[in-house]
Amino acid sequence: MNKIPPFDVSEQFKLIGAEINAAVLEVLASGRYIGGPPVEQFEQDFADYIGTSECIACNSGTDALYLALRSLQVGPGDEVITTPFTFVATAETISAVGATPVFVDIDSTFNLDLDQVAAAITDRTRAVVPVHLFGRPVDMTRLMAIAKAHGLAVIEDCAQATGAAWADRKVGSIGHIGCFSFYPTKNLGACGDGGAITTNDPAIAATLRMLRDHGRRSGYYYEALGVNSRLDAVQATILQIKLRYLEGWNQQRQTVAERYQQRLSRLAGVVLPQTVLNGTHVWNQYTIRVTEDAGSPERSPRDTVRQQLQEKGVTAMVYYPLPLHLQPVYQHLGGSAGQLPLSEQAAREVLSLPMFPELSSEQQDQVVYSLKDCLM
Ligand SMILES: *Cc1c(COP(=O)(O)O)cnc(C)c1O
Repeated sequence: MNKIPPFDVSEQFKLIGAEINAAVLEVLASGRYIGGPPVEQFEQDFADYIGTSECIACNSGTDALYLALRSLQVGPGDEVITTPFTFVATAETISAVGATPVFVDIDSTFNLDLDQVAAAITDRTRAVVPVHLFGRPVDMTRLMAIAKAHGLAVIEDCAQATGAAWADRKVGSIGHIGCFSFYPTKNLGACGDGGAITTNDPAIAATLRMLRDHGRRSGYYYEALGVNSRLDAVQATILQIKLRYLEGWNQQRQTVAERYQQRLSRLAGVVLPQTVLNGTHVWNQYTIRVTEDAGSPERSPRDTVRQQLQEKGVTAMVYYPLPLHLQPVYQHLGGSAGQLPLSEQAAREVLSLPMFPELSSEQQDQVVYSLKDCLM
């Protein structure tokens, strides 16, 4: 029995390790480790790839979200609408700037239900943070129309969706600001932490550059309370190389996803991810639902299947087991069980199967046969 991990970032290094080693050694020999040509070149390459005029590199996807909110002066008294079915950073950063996250439910795609976004808008709403969860694009045409009608800013959380597109435009180029993470397991991953912010607005870009560098535009003069959030030259060099492979890797992920869709299509007890009609899914995760048996609510079929898969050597993951409105950190907002039923059901049912570009068809067969075994 071979063990199959949920992801394996070392496979990429086998392919391009020599190229990365040579480029990193050059940076090490140069003596310029923070900022400089590698960072500027990566910012240019990434802006070109996403299709924006501006890219501001920073230290993480979390910082990208925080800085984006700060650059629009979202703060105390403001409400920001987002999803509870996401990684904590999406909401944590809204709270960090002093604003209040307003959680609305998801739909069957795992992304924000846009009817509920429209219904949640109040006088205090300043922005919406959609998350392109698991690499699946949100319907940005409709979201931008809602935002425009109410004068709201849209900050896209693209952490799981580098390269995804909606209606032929890459995510991160459609809203006012796009936020990306280069955490190693993301579609474009660094060998450490990293992030980037994209926008077509030069004034916002200038503010973002100021905020990421201690609130200064030059020298030792500080006009705002900033942070230290720089991408270093080694990470920028690695990302510059990996960016050239990203389209190919995303296509490999799509091939893996199609094979899962075909081989699991008639399996009872699971619901497969829906296909995207007007965009490109980049499959950071391939996430199914193991549907609940209405008769025995005390037993989670998902947890049973996950454990049985583990015994067969297949590691499946649960993103995310508890939606944010029910987390201890957000109890003060008054969230309660049953309030956002589709997010809560997703948290009980989701199971992410092994997904990475290099996953072989033999490995995938083992995942599929193991899963079928568990559901017999
Ligand atoms: C990974 C992730 C982030 C945070 O990115 P970091 O680089 O880890 O700070 C934010 N939002 C979502 C949806 C993520 O998956």
